[in-house]
Amino acid sequence: MTRATPTTASNPSETPMTGTSGAPHSRTRAIVVGAGISGLLAARVLSEQFTEVLVLDRDRFPATPGHRSGAPQSHHAHALLPRGAKILHELFPELRERLARDGAAHATTIAQARFVTPKGLLPLTQQIDVGALFFSRALLEWHLRDILSRHPRVEFVASANVVGLLAREDDTSQVRGVRVRRRGGAAGPHDDRTLFGDLIVDASGRQSRLQTWLTDLGYGPVDEEILTSELSYASRIYQRPGGVPEDFKSLVVQSRAPDNPRVGSIIEIENDHWHVTLGGGNGQRVPTDEDGFLSWAQALPDPSVHQAIRSARPVSPIRGWRTPTSRWRHFEHMPRRPSGLIAIGDAVCSFNPVYAQGMTVAAIQALALRDCLRQESGRETSLEVRYHRLAARVVSTAWMVTTIEDLRWPAVRLHGAEPPRGLGTIRRYIDLVLSVAVHDSALANRYFQVMSMTSPPTSLFSPWVLARFARHAVCRISPSRSPSQNSSLKYGLR
Ligand SMILES: Cc1cc2nc3c(=O)[nH]c(=O)nc-3n(C[C@H](O)[C@H](O)[C@H](O)COP(=O)(O)OP(=O)(O)OC[C@H]3O[C@@H](n4cnc5c(N)ncnc54)[C@H](O)[C@@H]3O)c2cc1C
Repeated sequence: MTRATPTTASNPSETPMTGTSGAPHSRTRAIVVGAGISGLLAARVLSEQFTEVLVLDRDRFPATPGHRSGAPQSHHAHALLPRGAKILHELFPELRERLARDGAAHATTIAQARFVTPKGLLPLTQQIDVGALFFSRALLEWHLRDILSRHPRVEFVASANVVGLLAREDDTSQVRGVRVRRRGGAAGPHDDRTLFGDLIVDASGRQSRLQTWLTDLGYGPVDEEILTSELSYASRIYQRPGGVPEDFKSLVVQSRAPDNPRVGSIIEIENDHWHVTLGGGNGQRVPTDEDGFLSWAQALPDPSVHQAIRSARPVSPIRGWRTPTSRWRHFEHMPRRPSGLIAIGDAVCSFNPVYAQGMTVAAIQALALRDCLRQESGRETSLEVRYHRLAARVVSTAWMVTTIEDLRWPAVRLHGAEPPRGLGTIRRYIDLVLSVAVHDSALANRYFQVMSMTSPPTSLFSPWVLARFARHAVCRISPSRSPSQNSSLKYGLR
């Protein structure tokens, strides 16, 4: 891993001006703040256009796949949706082989991903066109970073905490770089530097301080939508028990409104391990002690996760994680903005992790950035405006899923926007879709495609879906029917 020392780069007065009018950027140096999944994806697409891409992170990078304090979510199971997987494999062609070599689990059909909805198990059958791999977030991040660290135009800077943006005192219309505080030793002195760049990409995640930095430059406030979902997670790694069928790769149990806000998942990852994550919303906190963890699993809307783990051998401690909110920062609404600055990934929108959307949204945004960079010359509208419009479009679909589902819980509030119109009707319709889908593989596959972001939500409202309803005599499959009491035998577990 290359670790550059932050230095003051080119004189700002030498940097060609860029304007919000759409004048093309100089493509000398891009700076990415944050080396999480979205920072790595951004660095990959920027490396096609910039002479130099610096990726700064306040953490030290582990020499082998492992956890970092700046990305504590890696202790929790991460599912990469098929659309995100396709983009990652396109941008990093060596990734599949590397992950497979490191023991990532391989699934050939969606049927190997068990998905238990409030109405029961979805009978998924569809072939996945890209063979899906299951792995830990730590392994994925390590390989992406390792691949990029060999790229001649990409350089990583560890222990570099970005504390603000750089602009001229008399002209804040252009961001010219970042202020970096390098961590000293345990009690050692801090070392403040400036780094100049032509484009700054904020990929610093949920805790991004971009709004404050923009305020410091005289911009904002940035509109925000906030869901007060009060989420809590606890996770543990288990040895995959012997006797589990080969085709068992993952299991997701959704919550069941209005009485059971518990969710649970098992994902097979590298080293023949299971990553087990239990979650709770509506203010309920998942316990991190041994007995509490198992009791929580037992009280899930479906018994299968508990049955699978109760006699499995744990190989890690239980790790907890909590957040009061999910947030969407509407940078696309800003009436004025400085040039030379964009945001990606969780810095734009942090979702309820239960829908596994974050990495896929970041991947789609990276492609949007690539398109904007490729089409920059001669455009009326600036790169920053065009990119943020596209980034928001990507978020809006995923955010709609989060909003519709999270607002089922009475304690959850949406601030900064009105809930989607016709929310009650939409929910009743989704309940109806699920009531039929648990008996209808074709509809189950369609629902899964929407949740995996490979089909738009509108595809659930097509005449084809209405025909499935008719075919299954919906009058007799009431949406209020109680969930099927699937035994874990049904999932191929013993
Ligand atoms: C519990 C949990 C479970 C999840 N499960 C899934 C899942 O199943 N599927 C899925 O797709 N997504 C999931 N996500 C979301 C997913 O982790 C993120 O969406 C995805 O990793 C993209 O995050 P990011 O790169 O934008 O930010 P992060 O991963 O948060 O990375 C931000 C990086 O910026 C660095 N940084 C922060 N501030 C500074 C600074 N000032 N200066 C320098 N560096 C800085 C941090 O050290 C960190 O490395 C989950 C999230 C959580 C919390």
